[in-house]
Amino acid sequence: MKFIGAKDSGKVVIFGVPYDGTTCFRPGARFAPDGVRFFSENLETYSPALNRDLSSVEFTDAGNLEVSALPEKMVEEVEDFVNRIEIPVMIGGEHSVTYPVVRSLKKSYNNLTIVHFDAHADLRDEYSGTKFSHACVVRRILELGCRIVQVGVRSGTREEFKLIKEHPLIEKVDIKDLPQRLMEEQFVYFTVDIDYFDPAFAPGTGTPEPCGGSPVEFFEILYNLPPVKVVGFDVVEVSPPYDPSGVTRMLAAKIIREMILKFWGGEPC
Ligand code: MN
Ligand code: MN
Repeated sequence: MKFIGAKDSGKVVIFGVPYDGTTCFRPGARFAPDGVRFFSENLETYSPALNRDLSSVEFTDAGNLEVSALPEKMVEEVEDFVNRIEIPVMIGGEHSVTYPVVRSLKKSYNNLTIVHFDAHADLRDEYSGTKFSHACVVRRILELGCRIVQVGVRSGTREEFKLIKEHPLIEKVDIKDLPQRLMEEQFVYFTVDIDYFDPAFAPGTGTPEPCGGSPVEFFEILYNLPPVKVVGFDVVEVSPPYDPSGVTRMLAAKIIREMILKFWGGEPC
């Protein structure tokens, strides 16, 4: 199964990482890559909001990576793959899969800013005995020297919120301020943890957190982003076992379509 509209070649490469080895509460994100592809069939290739069509974009779907259960090994395997492609569009998996993608990109784009949509800060130094837990992913990315712009974070430890306040490379912004905030950035990577959204819109996730954002607002902001150079993005933490109606997978599929068209969709039709 391929994402709707995927061709056999293109610089933009969709791939899945069916991994949830460090998930602490409710696993299931390993089923997301195929689940999101399945629901992409319910999408049109045309986006009325952007007046662009996936049929005129060169992008491919490389399928899923077979990764090890050990987080240290998984990180190496995903990084090796991303080293060999140009523009990664990843379907997780839990959030730990983002670290190797960013570590690979950082070698090509020194001045890299990560826009992190999430309910959780993901800034723990270690969790459940590993530094590669999904609860630590942004801490690891921070150590690479990336700037982090967090949107929607509403859960974490006191220490994590202290770090957000004090660390010179992290800031927390209101989604409404994101377009203005990204004006000056050189290279941007987006990581969308689906639990950024309110559980009313995206119940199918391992660690839902009330009082999140709405899809309508998210897409409005996405459409209004300045023309920064986006070097890739991911959507993570979709958990099909907790998504019986499919709305969460459908939202993830739509995010992927709209982001591909917004960032690399060329001229409007
Ligand atoms: Mn996360
Ligand atoms: Mn989260």
